[in-house]
Amino acid sequence: MGEYQHVFGPIFSRRLGLSLGISPITGKSCSCSCIYCQLGRTKSLSMERKSFFPVKDIINEFKDYLSQGADFDTVTIVGEGEPTLSLDLKELIMELKKYTDKPIAVITNGTLMINESVREALFEADIVLPSLDAFNELSFREINRPHEDATFANLVNGLKEFSNNYSGQLWLEVMLVKDVNDGEADLIAIKKIIDDINCDKVYINTPVRPPAEGFVKEPTKDTVEMAIEILGGISLDNLVTGTFYSNIEDDYEAVLAIIKRHPMNQYEIREFLKSRNCSKKQEIDVFKQLESNNELDIVRFKNCSNYRYK
Ligand code: SF4
Repeated sequence: MGEYQHVFGPIFSRRLGLSLGISPITGKSCSCSCIYCQLGRTKSLSMERKSFFPVKDIINEFKDYLSQGADFDTVTIVGEGEPTLSLDLKELIMELKKYTDKPIAVITNGTLMINESVREALFEADIVLPSLDAFNELSFREINRPHEDATFANLVNGLKEFSNNYSGQLWLEVMLVKDVNDGEADLIAIKKIIDDINCDKVYINTPVRPPAEGFVKEPTKDTVEMAIEILGGISLDNLVTGTFYSNIEDDYEAVLAIIKRHPMNQYEIREFLKSRNCSKKQEIDVFKQLESNNELDIVRFKNCSNYRYK
């Protein structure tokens, strides 16, 4: 089978190991347009839940992937945007569980967790990874730039309510942006909110890929240390390590299929091509094709070229 529409990866994730991605939504649909988003600005800002694709189609792709015997550690429902916008999330998780014993994780911005049916869908997942970057309404609007119907109070209340009734693993993620939410007082305010959420882990992340907005900067190492201390968190290392994988035969198409869902930098592309035993000439060809593809943005960030869809 060629490129899948819903199944991608697996991609190595520090938290989830070899993570096989499942996208149940169209890109990029999200209830936020975070200033640090690696996918760029949100094209379709929405709080409206709907059926994007028949669950059957997603499951058929998943079954096809499984039939090839490729390995993975986790199935991660993520997509290019906010997966809880999918009305079929609960059914999707339940169906996926019929075909795999591997943990099912959902990465979410948490804005729809105030909605009971969203919480019920997420109860089916083994691991839920919501974001909590803000400490009040103003900072929520500044960092996450949510849809006008999303409020910070609802985000926090949804998280609390969910955490009190969830039996799986709840791992919060705090993305630190320099001079936006990384001050000591900001971190103490975030910690107060976290104390009321019954979560198992707090991960601290920093923008390591080109963000949606050029003004987004990484916090200093000292600040990250302070955040670890105040939040009692675990720092995610700056670079996604490990290998990417694709079942697409053509090297260029394989790189494109990954970039579609997960931006890559030049070193990651090189490593990926090396893992497929590409020669230097093949590697140069792939980069030439990437550079002449008008659908891609090539962004210089952290001293290397990063490739992502426009
Ligand atoms: S980071 Fe996540 S929640 Fe924020 S805009 Fe991007 S996809 Fe949406």
